[in-house]
Amino acid sequence: MKTDILIIGSGCAGLYMAMNLPRDKKITIITKKDVESSDSYLAQGGMCVLKNAADYDSFFEDTMKAGHYENDKTSVDIMIRSSREVLEDLLSYGADFHRNEDGSLDYTREGGHSDKRIVYHKDITGKEITRNILKEVQKLSNVQILEYTTMLDIISKDNKCYGAVVKNADDSITTIQAQVTVLACGGIGGLYRHSTNFRHLTGDALAVAIKHNVKLKDVDYIQIHPTTLYSEREEDRSFLISESVRGEGAHLLDKNMNRFVNELLPRDLLTAAIREQMEKDGTEFVWEDLRPIPKDELLAHFPNIVEHCKEMGYDVTKECIPVVPAQHYFMGGIDVNHQSKTSMDNLYAIGETACNGVHGKNRLASNSLLESLVFAKRAAVDMLKWIADARYIDNDKKSIASLTVEEVDLNQYKDTAKLEKEYKDMVLDVIEDFRRKRTEMDV
Ligand SMILES: Cc1cc2nc3c(=O)[nH]c(=O)nc-3n(C[C@H](O)[C@H](O)[C@H](O)COP(=O)(O)OP(=O)(O)OC[C@H]3O[C@@H](n4cnc5c(N)ncnc54)[C@H](O)[C@@H]3O)c2cc1C
Repeated sequence: MKTDILIIGSGCAGLYMAMNLPRDKKITIITKKDVESSDSYLAQGGMCVLKNAADYDSFFEDTMKAGHYENDKTSVDIMIRSSREVLEDLLSYGADFHRNEDGSLDYTREGGHSDKRIVYHKDITGKEITRNILKEVQKLSNVQILEYTTMLDIISKDNKCYGAVVKNADDSITTIQAQVTVLACGGIGGLYRHSTNFRHLTGDALAVAIKHNVKLKDVDYIQIHPTTLYSEREEDRSFLISESVRGEGAHLLDKNMNRFVNELLPRDLLTAAIREQMEKDGTEFVWEDLRPIPKDELLAHFPNIVEHCKEMGYDVTKECIPVVPAQHYFMGGIDVNHQSKTSMDNLYAIGETACNGVHGKNRLASNSLLESLVFAKRAAVDMLKWIADARYIDNDKKSIASLTVEEVDLNQYKDTAKLEKEYKDMVLDVIEDFRRKRTEMDV
């Protein structure tokens, strides 16, 4: 199969990129599961935006502080300055965010933010954003979405990408040849026993990057979410109790039901404090009390959390819930420039898979949907320039038309279970390697 642009992943990053590409290009989006099984659908709290010009310095500082000042300042600046444009796009697709009585946007706050600057839709903001982008993408006749289609590898020669090897819904293994390939494969939570991520997000893009010598960055920077609902059943995906619950007033309590920490600390510091308390108390969780939030507000703002807790046997309007830290977000990833271009020609990476340094060592809450969208659009714009050049070269009968996929031995991909295991080990080894080297440098 041949396509102009191959996007691997149908989360908010991949879908929004498709919206920003020209309608005369054939775009193919593939996704490992059904189109709604992406972490973008799970995002609860909201999406940061620059509320007004006066908030710029504080938004910038909060992002840098959460990232331990290891952030790429240009990326942070781009993200903040582009936020209103992205918000306008989302509103134009029909995304609905909570509003005040006068019709203006209502903003909420989460840990690490010194002001309210997060737009939200109940506690299912990611679903509201992504389903509206998807709805628009589905109207485009130049975009096809292939579900249950897994990228097994990329095809490269001389540091240039020519597309991917995929396992199709019928289990056949074929190639998709593309002028440009985009890795939008999300995070790595599926590699961990306890994670808030979908289990099928196993860092596949990272594995192929390692295999093809594509540059990585900060892959040892992995965020743990401080508060997920504790479950004794190990096979459960950890259910997140959003930061904005604490932003709206929920308390964290030790085994004696005493508060032990400032609940609005940045995630890494709060996680450390919770773990310390669990060790001190000899418990596998701490308690979270949502009752300080007025009941009406609790039910209206967090219906999804209230409902899920009820299903798990807890009435949050009457009792505390047990919470524990779990793997949540991947700050590092495939190294990209400010246009989301990787170190390999014709290959871009966007969303959680990519690392443009915006989050530094630790992500500020609700910056990731925004970052994914801002840098997906930038990749699309950058690619347009490139494709325009390519077409010129093509017309000139010089090179691009002769993009031929080298003979690929598809037999090597037949044992997918073995391949998955190899990829998983590869990624975990590289993470460990980065960690070890950083520790050596720090010593
Ligand atoms: C529970 C939870 C709550 C969150 N809350 C917030 C929040 O309030 N605010 C915020 O800003 N961020 C939040 N986040 C983070 C945010 O949701 C993600 O960082 C963001 O949605 C990532 O988008 P993405 O498009 O990069 O990846 P995803 O949305 O995860 O999409 C990845 C896609 O890649 C596909 N894929 C993966 N591997 C392959 C392969 N080999 N072949 C084909 N397809 C593949 C998947 O099937 C999927 O379609 C939350 C995350 C979680 C898990």
